Amino acid sequence: MLSKAYMARAETKGKYSTNYYIYDKVLEEKITQEQQIESSMEMALKNKEFKVLYQPKIDTKTEKIAGAEALVRWNKDGKTIPPNKFIPLFEKNKFIINLDLYVFEEVCKDIAIWKQRYKYVPMTSINVSKTHFENENFIDRYVQIANKYNLNTEELDLEITESATVDESIDSLKILKDIKAKGFTVSMDDFGTGYSSLSMLQSMPIDTIKIDKVFIEKADLNSDQNIINYIMLISKHLGVKTVVEGVETKEEIDFVRKLGCDLIQGYYYSKAMEKEEFEEYFSKNM
Ligand code: C2E
Ligand code: CA
Ligand code: CA
Repeated sequence: MLSKAYMARAETKGKYSTNYYIYDKVLEEKITQEQQIESSMEMALKNKEFKVLYQPKIDTKTEKIAGAEALVRWNKDGKTIPPNKFIPLFEKNKFIINLDLYVFEEVCKDIAIWKQRYKYVPMTSINVSKTHFENENFIDRYVQIANKYNLNTEELDLEITESATVDESIDSLKILKDIKAKGFTVSMDDFGTGYSSLSMLQSMPIDTIKIDKVFIEKADLNSDQNIINYIMLISKHLGVKTVVEGVETKEEIDFVRKLGCDLIQGYYYSKAMEKEEFEEYFSKNM
């Protein structure tokens, strides 16, 4: 009873709307699922069950490919598990550190091959979980891996969520400066969802702002009075590039183009693809 009570209590953490939780079937299933994932994750990494897919980012003006984002999937017993089912858990148990480094290395391997095959390789972004920020020198491992594949760090973009920069116990500004000093470019991911202040934004050494897809979902396409518009104005003022995420329809494309956004990432152009398919895609669309 005590251990079940502890588990129920853990469910209330970080929730502001309620301060109690009653142990129930839903929680029991969730915990069983989490235990299964935790007991199989290390083996899964060794057995190469994690696959990296690539989703293109398209230049708004030319409609040609301008970059890509690497997104991980877990192929477990013939089924594909989406990242929202395991990333939050891996962030809790820190396994995300291993997984992110694995994804980064897989991307470096692919880029090294593409560079030999093609004159042009799209700039690829890799997600870096905020969990890494707990170790001030984490970026050294990334530099080592890039070096191992003879890649310049300038050829790689790291996506860091806005929420990573608001934790007061971590000197995220120093970490970001260090990442930039090592040569990587930095995209601020899920912008608009993490409550960073405008003054912080001004001092942050970032190259790109990725506007979260909730804003395109909520936008009134017939009005200039929307948040995307204001984020665009701030970005232009700061001299950073913008990517709008989650663009699915022609109407949304026209809207985003009118606002002067630089890049578009969304199902309208393409979902994330297996690397062979992506290679074919970019060799045709450049
Ligand atoms: P994210 O970084 O915001 O990635 C974009 C997500 O939006 C991807 O979902 C992508 O498939 C989805 N998306 C792209 N275009 C559209 C669209 O037009 N409509 C809609 N509805 N969705 C679209 P995905 O691949 O399921 O990834 C979910 C999240 O998991 C990512 O969100 C990222 O936070 C995390 N993630 C994925 N791979 C990694 C990884 O290697 N490391 C870490 N730390 N996190 C990862
Ligand atoms: Ca991302
Ligand atoms: Ca995002």
